[in-house]
Amino acid sequence: MLKNLIKMFWFRNTVNEPEEPENNMAIKPAEAIKTRTDFTRNIAILLYEMLEAGEEPVIDFVLRSKYEQNRLFNEGKSKCDGFNKISRHQAAMAMDLYMADKLTGNIAFVWDKDRAEKWHHRWEQLGGKPMISWDTGHFE
Ligand SMILES: [Zn+2]
Repeated sequence: MLKNLIKMFWFRNTVNEPEEPENNMAIKPAEAIKTRTDFTRNIAILLYEMLEAGEEPVIDFVLRSKYEQNRLFNEGKSKCDGFNKISRHQAAMAMDLYMADKLTGNIAFVWDKDRAEKWHHRWEQLGGKPMISWDTGHFE
């Protein structure tokens, strides 16, 4: 009897609850990313949304040592030398993403313009920094 009353009470109080919003992971737009926790959560949201949209992102660099950063600088692949000019990768607050081509399996290191603008726009909504025009796969 009591069990049934509890069931009825539970039913009455849950049946008319409003549904959860579609994307309950979304955070307030344009809230700047300040911590590793924010960065990790928001990059996970971005990756999840990319996969949902049928993209095949490939994760390259996240964390770099100062020596790795300096090697890339010396090869002309970064503007940060790792010692005087520090990259956000050295704090694991940046991620490089490339796109795989589903048909060929090739990985595109340079994104096409529409995709880059679309996903960087979303990244900015999640508090990320604007796209760097010469490094479209970089998110920080
Ligand atoms: Zn990068």
